[in-house]
Amino acid sequence: MPLIPKSHPRAKSLLIREKLVDGFDHGLVAKEGLLAQGRGEAFDYLLGEKTSKASSQAIKAAAAQLLLAERPVISVNGNIAALCPKQIIKLSKQIKAKLEINLFYTNEKRKQAIIRVLKKNGANEILGTKKTSSKKLSGIDSARRIVDKDGIYAADVVVVPLEDGDRTMALRKAGKTVITFDLNPLSRTSQTANITIVDNVTRAIDLLITESKKLSKNDEKNLLKIIEKFDNKKNLSENILQIKNNLTRRAKIA
Ligand code: ATP
Ligand code: MG
Repeated sequence: MPLIPKSHPRAKSLLIREKLVDGFDHGLVAKEGLLAQGRGEAFDYLLGEKTSKASSQAIKAAAAQLLLAERPVISVNGNIAALCPKQIIKLSKQIKAKLEINLFYTNEKRKQAIIRVLKKNGANEILGTKKTSSKKLSGIDSARRIVDKDGIYAADVVVVPLEDGDRTMALRKAGKTVITFDLNPLSRTSQTANITIVDNVTRAIDLLITESKKLSKNDEKNLLKIIEKFDNKKNLSENILQIKNNLTRRAKIA
C-alpha cells in the first residue's frame, strides 16, 4: 500500500480510497464498487466531509429503531467489508443483529473473500452463504433477489449500507423497515429508505455504535418517541440544504 503523508490535505479521503483499492486487490470489492465510492466521495466533498446535525439525528433514530427491532439484519457487501469490517461486527453484536452477505454483483469467489475478512474480524454466524437457505424477494429481476430465509427474508429491520435503489424498494415492498448509509441524499435508496444516514459510513458507523450503546438504557416508550419524532424526508431536505449552503458560501469566497 503506498504511503500517504498525514499532512496531505486530503489524507483521510485518500486513506479510505486505499482501503477500497486494497479490498479490490484482495478480491473483496467489485470494480463497480470503486465507482460507487467515487460517487459517494463527490457528495462527501459537497457536504463538507463531516457529520451534519441532521445526520446525527438520523443516527439516533437508527439506533432507536435497531434496539426496538425483533429480527434485525445487517446486509454486508464488498465495500463495507473493505471499509469497516471491525465496526460492522461490533455493531451487530451491540444491537444483536445477524450479518448477511448480499452482493449486487454475485460472485462466489468474492463471497468467500468477504466471509474470510468477516471471520478474521470476529464474526460468528454469517448468513447468505448457503444455497439451501435461499429465498427470493419479489420485485427484482436478477440474482440479487436471493436472500437468506433466516436473515433478510425474515427480518423486520434491515441495515443496507451503500445500497442500490432497486433492492431498497423491493425490501420496502416486502414490508421491511430499511436503514441505510448513503452520502447521496438524492439517490433512490436515500429517498426510499425509512431512515437514511447521509454520511460517510466510515464516520457514521462508530457514531451509530456509540448511540446504540447509549440508548440501550432507554425503555421502549422512549425509543418509540425518538422514531416518531424522526421524519426522513425532512432530514434529507436538511442535508440537501447543507450542500446548498456550503456551495453558496464557497461561491461567495471564490
Ligand atoms: P440508487 O440506485 O440508490 O439511485 P446510485 O445508482 O446512484 O443509487 P449505487 O451505486 O446504486 O448508486 O449505490 C451506491 C451508493 O452508495 C451511492 O449513492 C453512493 O453515494 C453511496 N456511497 C458510496 N460510498 C459511500 C460511503 N463510503 N459512505 C456512504 N455512502 C457511500
Ligand atoms: Mg443504483
